[in-house]
Amino acid sequence: MSELNAALDDKAKKAAFEGNKLAKRLRHHVGDAINDFNMIEEGDRVMVCLSGGKDSYTLLDILLGLQKSAPIDFSIVAVNLDQKQPGFPEHVLPEYLKSIGVEYRIVEEDTYSIVKRLVPEGKTTCSLCSRLRRGILYRVADELGATKIALGHHRDDILHTLFLNMFYGGKLKSMPPKLVSDDGRHMVIRPLAYCREKDIERYAQLREFPIIPCNLCGSQPNLQRQVVKEMVNDWDKRFPGRVESMFRALQNVVPSHLADTKLYDFASLTTGDAPFAGGDTAFDKEEFRDPAPHEDDAAEAAPKKRTISILDSRKPEGSGCGA
Ligand code: SF4
Repeated sequence: MSELNAALDDKAKKAAFEGNKLAKRLRHHVGDAINDFNMIEEGDRVMVCLSGGKDSYTLLDILLGLQKSAPIDFSIVAVNLDQKQPGFPEHVLPEYLKSIGVEYRIVEEDTYSIVKRLVPEGKTTCSLCSRLRRGILYRVADELGATKIALGHHRDDILHTLFLNMFYGGKLKSMPPKLVSDDGRHMVIRPLAYCREKDIERYAQLREFPIIPCNLCGSQPNLQRQVVKEMVNDWDKRFPGRVESMFRALQNVVPSHLADTKLYDFASLTTGDAPFAGGDTAFDKEEFRDPAPHEDDAAEAAPKKRTISILDSRKPEGSGCGA
C-alpha cells in the first residue's frame, strides 16, 4: 500500500512540475509576443474578448497573471457577447468572472436570430455572424474606453490562415498579431500569437476552465479549415520542428526572393546593385537541414536577450532613483 501511495505521490509531483513548466512556457510566449509587437503599453485598457472556449480563457488567465508582475500598469476588462444561441449557458461566464474578481461586461445581442433570418438554410453562417460580432465588439470597446482589443487566436490559427489564403485566396497573407481596424479607430492584438494550440488545450484542462461548447449555433465546422488543421497536425507528428520553422518563416520574409512586384522593385534592378537580403542563389542548389525537433523547448532553455519586458517584475515600492 505504501508503495502505491509513493507511486501516486510521484505521479502527482510530476504532473505539478509539468503543469508549472507549461504555464511558464505560455507566459513567456505571451510576454515575448507583447514585447515584440508592442501590444500593451503603460495605461492601456485591454478588452479581452471571451467566448467561453479554451483559447480566450487561457488568454485572460495569462494576461491577468502578467498584469500582476509587469513593470507597467494596464487594466483588463473581460467582455463576452451572448449571441443568444439556443442552449447557451448564460450563467457560466458571469460566475467564473466573478470568482476570479476581474471587471467584466456581458453584452446580450441576438445575432443568432438575425443570421438565421438572413442566411438561407444550408449556407454557412459564420461570415455574417462574425461581421455582426465584430461591429458589436468595436462599439463595446468604445463604450468601455478600451484602447486595445485582445483576441485569443494562437500560432496554429495563424498558420492555418496562411495556408487557407494560399490554397483558396492566392495570397501570401495570414492573421497578424497586431492590426488596426478598418475604420482606423481600434487596435486589435493577439497575445497568444506564439503559443501552440496543444499547449493551450493542456493548460485549459489543467486549469479546469468551464468551457462552453462552440457548436451551439448548429453551424457546420468550416471544412477547409478542418482539412488544413489536420494537414498541419500530421506534419507536426511526422516532421518535428516543421511547424516551428513555418512560423519563423512568417517572421523572416525576403521580398526580393518572392515575386510580388508591388513589394519589391524588380523592374528597377540593375547589374550594379548588390545582391539583396537572401543573396545571389541563382546558380546554387540550396541546401536545407531538418529543423531541430522541439526548437520551442530549446528556446526556453536559452531565452533570447530582452530589454525591458512585460515579463520583468515590478520594482519594489520606493526603489526608484528619486529616493
Ligand atoms: S460557428 Fe456559429 S457562432 Fe461561431 S462564427 Fe460561425 S455561426 Fe457564428
